[in-house]
Amino acid sequence: MEKLKRIIEEQGTVLSSEVLKTDRFLNHAIDPDLMNEIGTEFASRFQDLGIIRVLTIESGGIAPALMTALHLHVPMVFCKKTRPVTMCCPLSASVHSFTKNRDYTLCMEADLIKKGDRVLFIDDFLANGDAFAGIRSLVEQAGASLAGAGFCIEKSWQRGRKNVEASGVPHAVLASIASMSSEGIIWNEDQPLRLSAEQA
Ligand code: 5GP
Repeated sequence: MEKLKRIIEEQGTVLSSEVLKTDRFLNHAIDPDLMNEIGTEFASRFQDLGIIRVLTIESGGIAPALMTALHLHVPMVFCKKTRPVTMCCPLSASVHSFTKNRDYTLCMEADLIKKGDRVLFIDDFLANGDAFAGIRSLVEQAGASLAGAGFCIEKSWQRGRKNVEASGVPHAVLASIASMSSEGIIWNEDQPLRLSAEQA
């Protein structure tokens, strides 16, 4: 998605060869026009997959997931990283946080996702794929199916890309980074929807 790549180049900061700072437009300050376009783009890529619910993780995934849900006309649920006292019957999974380098427990009320639901996971980044694995576990615990996964930004050399491909879940990436340094970002080519080798 050219607009997202342009904004990353203009407003993002490469903190190291592994970490990109996007807090001017994606996951701290949020650009509503950009989120709307991201939502439109994901909705068009996943519109034929029978999605009935969009799932994400607080907080970075909420804005793109909400706009995707808006354009798909389905509800959105975000999983929490700490269990509030008001949550009575959670599904949970342990996830390693890429940015905080520690484990947390992903949780959501069990009745927010129903048996048989076709769920779309939307997140801001795909790095090692641990958040994706945690979401997959929650969806399985609920007896639902993970019908798709969309990531705004992917760092394609990290483990996540291979893990998502191996899962067989159809997935889309709006801005795929091949490598990055203080010199700049090298992009991979855009692909509309990636399927596993057997599905392609
Ligand atoms: P994963 O679970 O795939 O290893 O990492 C995904 C999560 O880590 C995302 O939800 C995102 O919040 C965070 N993340 C991973 N890489 C980056 C990065 O380069 N920059 C920022 N801001 N967050 C990242």
